[in-house]
Amino acid sequence: MALETYRKKRDFERTPEPRGQVAHSERRRFVAQEHHASRLHYDFRLEMGGVLKSWAIPKGPSLDSRQKRLSVQVEDHPVSYLHFHGEIAEGNYGAGQVYTWDIGTYQMVGSQDPLAAYADGKLSFDFFGEKLHGQFNLVRMKNRENQWLLIKSPDEFAQPSWRLEPVGKGAATTRATAKSSRTKKAGTRTERRAPKRSEPRAKAPKSSSASMTLSQFVESKTLAGDVQVRADDANLLLTHLDKLYWPKEGITKGDLLRYYAQVAPTILPYLAHRPLILKRYPNGVDAPFFFQHDLTHAPAFVHRQSLESAGERSIDYAIVDNTVALLYLTNLGTIEEHPWHSRVENIDHPDWVVFDLDPEDAPFETVCEVAQAVRQALALLGLQAYAKTSGSRGLHILVPIEPRYEYVQVADFAERVAGQVVQAHPKCATVERSLSRRQAGHVYIDYMQNAKGKSIAAPYSVRARPGASVSAPLEWAEVQKGLYPRQFTLESLPARLRERGDLFRGVLDHPQTLDGALAQIQKQ
Ligand code: MN
Repeated sequence: MALETYRKKRDFERTPEPRGQVAHSERRRFVAQEHHASRLHYDFRLEMGGVLKSWAIPKGPSLDSRQKRLSVQVEDHPVSYLHFHGEIAEGNYGAGQVYTWDIGTYQMVGSQDPLAAYADGKLSFDFFGEKLHGQFNLVRMKNRENQWLLIKSPDEFAQPSWRLEPVGKGAATTRATAKSSRTKKAGTRTERRAPKRSEPRAKAPKSSSASMTLSQFVESKTLAGDVQVRADDANLLLTHLDKLYWPKEGITKGDLLRYYAQVAPTILPYLAHRPLILKRYPNGVDAPFFFQHDLTHAPAFVHRQSLESAGERSIDYAIVDNTVALLYLTNLGTIEEHPWHSRVENIDHPDWVVFDLDPEDAPFETVCEVAQAVRQALALLGLQAYAKTSGSRGLHILVPIEPRYEYVQVADFAERVAGQVVQAHPKCATVERSLSRRQAGHVYIDYMQNAKGKSIAAPYSVRARPGASVSAPLEWAEVQKGLYPRQFTLESLPARLRERGDLFRGVLDHPQTLDGALAQIQKQ
């Protein structure tokens, strides 16, 4: 019903566009498509009510809050149009190339119902895309039925004098693209068939971005501008490398990418197979960040896993198992990686128990004492534990286990261990969650992270903290007075890794049974 106009305009024997149908799901996705039709324009679509509400924007969206963009409301499109791109042949409605310019999710501001706001002619929403971030407003102009204005709110994501960069033609150099044979074929076909009039009017993309191998990238002392990196079978464009991510320390996005390129072989085994929550700081650590669970769109080398979530929605989590994917996500401003405690092939059974030691106002020396006490309590239960700095204020303790216990069992076990430690060390450890009821100087043993969907920063993940600290695996002998929680940084960690090796290898290689420990602790 809602797609009648859409279907009437098209002959599905002749166009590659999807016929589609009204969807039942209610996800909040958006796409901005670059459409090289008789006139270049941008098609802007928001998922709501089972369809994509759509607008054609002649000049495209803008991150400059002073630029109001005329947006002409057009017919609803099917949800499957989110992923449509390619050539609509001559003679069809909308003939010309369609490229995905940006794709992601949105949230209505406040508790606005999107369909009601649409009917009222005033939508305010937050974007979580690759290019579009922060709040936008879409407002219907008075007495003009189909004409709206898209306006960026002057928030932290607004960028004065921002200019839209088209992705069409030469898209391979402006976007990270997998160099698969399929992409190549599509490229040559485009070149042969593209009629003259669909040549982009936009200026040609900068041709000057340097090209290098991954090891050349790692060895480059200065990283600036954009660089094309060849790794595995992909060409990856890493952008704005001189952007300051830690302004006070002068640490750049290039430094962050170099670090992850260096430690990729070590960190990847801790990320592989696990749904990953991305903590993204597109404008550095002093600007707003967001947690991204749902990765609606990514090149083929970023593997994704769709997981059921509350209600009908499902979430496509990133599964990072290769260097190119890690760098691609870092290039989007991901500073911290937070993997789940279970793997996709056994999603209901965690393969480590985690204790998150949070000092609040206690000296770090006390955190180390409590960590040693947790280690001892576990040793008495026959379990080996591993410690790492959180990279923020505290310590993380991980106990590798065979993935055959329910999350609730593991949480119950962790609670009992934490309880024992508090009983033995009432002067410095607590399991009191409420900050106001917690006694000063006590270290909080947080065992509640042992739940499906929760996560902690991965070993070797950089943290968005002063000094670009890293969550660093430790030897137990180091867990004592003199250790500093942000001691290891993206600058110092690679050398430490060369000297000490991966101190967390046992977490992956030696899963332990909990059977004995569970039986023992339930008796105590
Ligand atoms: Mn169009």
